[in-house]
Amino acid sequence: MKVVEAKIVVLGSQGVGKTSLVVRYIGKMFSKHISPTIGASFFTCNINVDDARVKLQVWDTAGQERFRSMAPMYYRNANAALLVYDITSAGSFAAIKGWVKELQSNVPEAMVLALVGNKCDLDACRAVSRGEASAYAADIGAQYCETSALHDQGIDQVFLNTATSLLQLSATSLVSSLRSYDSVDGEERLPFGNPTEETATHTGKVELPAWNDDRVAHGEMQKTMCC
Ligand code: GDP
Ligand code: MG
Repeated sequence: MKVVEAKIVVLGSQGVGKTSLVVRYIGKMFSKHISPTIGASFFTCNINVDDARVKLQVWDTAGQERFRSMAPMYYRNANAALLVYDITSAGSFAAIKGWVKELQSNVPEAMVLALVGNKCDLDACRAVSRGEASAYAADIGAQYCETSALHDQGIDQVFLNTATSLLQLSATSLVSSLRSYDSVDGEERLPFGNPTEETATHTGKVELPAWNDDRVAHGEMQKTMCC
């Protein structure tokens, strides 16, 4: 089986629902009381696409997004980015341009981009039209999806589309940070990367879930939250 290991970073203004999306996808739960996380956190999950497996390392921001830039380690070796805005906030959509610039100056290699309009359950308060968003997505070569972390809409699709594009990207073998290999009889090679390399952010708080655990220890995430 072909296995691809990739890192996804989640970017966007504070409050657009990045953590809710990740928690919804990874933890399959939605909390109305998600507090800003302290320190970066990442989670691993596997997505099977056809007869290949994509091992994703999903990095959520930790409140640093309010400074409109992230520590370089956040971007290091990233292969995909979810650019999240809130469809009821024109400002959060405008801010995506800044995040794209950040990516361009921090990630030298080709990436998979997904523009994600979250809170689509609040369509009555929509401030960013689908037309405007999809035109911008086409401009930057991103996929475009609308999601609701509240109602669990569109999120599986975002991750599946991203995993599918990552497989295609790995087939070009132009991207050295994207690891791929064949696992024989389900036996896999060394685990992805070396977690100890990733233990420091400028806030010094990174949660390290059990690295080989396909499921994510949701409790780990709770620990990163303040009250
Ligand atoms: P982050 O700062 O980008 O990580 O945003 P959070 O995940 O902390 O969410 C910010 C706020 O938006 C919280 O009050 C969430 O409950 C709310 N929220 C997140 N996603 C949705 C959504 O899809 N719909 C609605 N209505 N609210 C959401
Ligand atoms: Mg957050």
